[in-house]
Amino acid sequence: MSIQAINPATGDVIATHEEMTPPLVAGIVESAHGAFNDWRHASFADRAVPMRKAAAILRKEARDFAHLMAREMGKPVRDGIAEAQKCATACDFFAEHTPKFLARETVATEARSSFVTFAPLGVVLAVMPWNFPFWQVFRFAAPGLMAGNAAVLKHASNVPGCALAIEDVLRRAGFPENLFRTLLIGSKAVDAVIEHPRVRAVSLTGSGPAGRAIAAKAGQLLKKTVLELGGSDPYLVLEDADLDVAADVCTKARLVNSGQSCIAGKRFIVVEAVRSDFEKRFVARMATSKMGDPLDDATEIGPQARTDLRDTLQRQVDQSVAKGARCLLGGAIPGGPGAWYPPSVLTDVRPGMPAFDEELFGPVAAIVPVRDEAEAVTMANASAFGLGGAVITRDSARGERIAADLIESGCVFVNAAVRSDARLPFGGIKDSGYGRELASYGIREFVNIKTVYVA
Ligand code: NAP
Repeated sequence: MSIQAINPATGDVIATHEEMTPPLVAGIVESAHGAFNDWRHASFADRAVPMRKAAAILRKEARDFAHLMAREMGKPVRDGIAEAQKCATACDFFAEHTPKFLARETVATEARSSFVTFAPLGVVLAVMPWNFPFWQVFRFAAPGLMAGNAAVLKHASNVPGCALAIEDVLRRAGFPENLFRTLLIGSKAVDAVIEHPRVRAVSLTGSGPAGRAIAAKAGQLLKKTVLELGGSDPYLVLEDADLDVAADVCTKARLVNSGQSCIAGKRFIVVEAVRSDFEKRFVARMATSKMGDPLDDATEIGPQARTDLRDTLQRQVDQSVAKGARCLLGGAIPGGPGAWYPPSVLTDVRPGMPAFDEELFGPVAAIVPVRDEAEAVTMANASAFGLGGAVITRDSARGERIAADLIESGCVFVNAAVRSDARLPFGGIKDSGYGRELASYGIREFVNIKTVYVA
């Protein structure tokens, strides 16, 4: 079996790699464990040295990494530069804050001394998606390595160059040999890695089906998992919203990463009183977004990452229209090579349509008209997913109340598009997964929270 990188802008094969054999993979996992045995005893200060060096490499070579992402999965180069810089910020953040996040905690008991320590677990398997091919990996690796763990990465099969480049960044940064290794394997080979006795836990970012398969395997073996899965984030546009702000926030939220983000805005739940004004402004704003060559610095939207995923999106649009949705913009695959799909807007979307019930992983917005705030909240929560969401209103106290008390998801933003930030915990509920990444909550997922009691 081979792993192929295909340029989604043109359909050209750009690299072919032989898949690693099971004995080679097992040997790499064993050597990662060997590296862990020393690394677990390194001080936080010693771990921070290569972590800060990795940040410096990511900043210095951001444009090269952005070109690699553009070629392998179509990300516009200016987004790729921002992504590499964001990875650098996360590396610096965990280099600085890990001593505080994982500091020993004294607990007052009748003992001479009793406290909690946070010990590393060992080798953690990271199974990662292609959509933010650097960020998803660093979001896991920066806290994971600072906590004292080792890691093996099974990246998505369409971004092998990114997977190898990340391993190379960490090697050049000065992390111990074999502490972080890339496995060039397909998804069928993942079970054997989870079964390896040296693998202690699994972090997956990906789709629901992948989450179910990996959690089932890891569950049989009693290995911990963190699952960051899909989303269908609701954006509530209330009758008191500034509609220019709403159109701007919703367009950015829907088109982030050419529409291929777990936390992209997907369902735009709009109160009927402002629906027609909002639709005009939103459609106009979506239509002016610049789609083009991802290597061009001016491009805002590149191609979709793969033609099969683009075809799934078209199936979801067609089935939604067949069930009564109306297409206000786009909605059809353009001719020619590559995995292109234009910014598109559907309206009159209701539960029972794929545009409401499933994740639309591309630049297609689903407008869901509702009577009032109460129905907007009901519609927001009538989803299998629970990753993020947003409320657009001129009344920030109202927005805060809806966000904090009513929306069922891992985060809610008011008058802004959802985004991840190393300082804030990130993750979902329901079919969006469980566990958290980032902040102090994320770094404590893959540690042994250990009680020590000295009588
Ligand atoms: P995917 O098809 O689930 O793939 C993700 C990773 O899992 C890839 O490395 C894939 O390998 C592997 N995989 C797939 N099926 C597997 C199985 N049965 N057993 C073991 N490994 C398996 O998802 P994707 O298309 O790459 O990414 C898009 C999805 O990720 C969307 O649903 C998106 O919302 C979600 N996502 C979530 C977050 C979050 O933080 N919550 C962030 C980004 C993306 P192959 O490539 O070899 O198939």
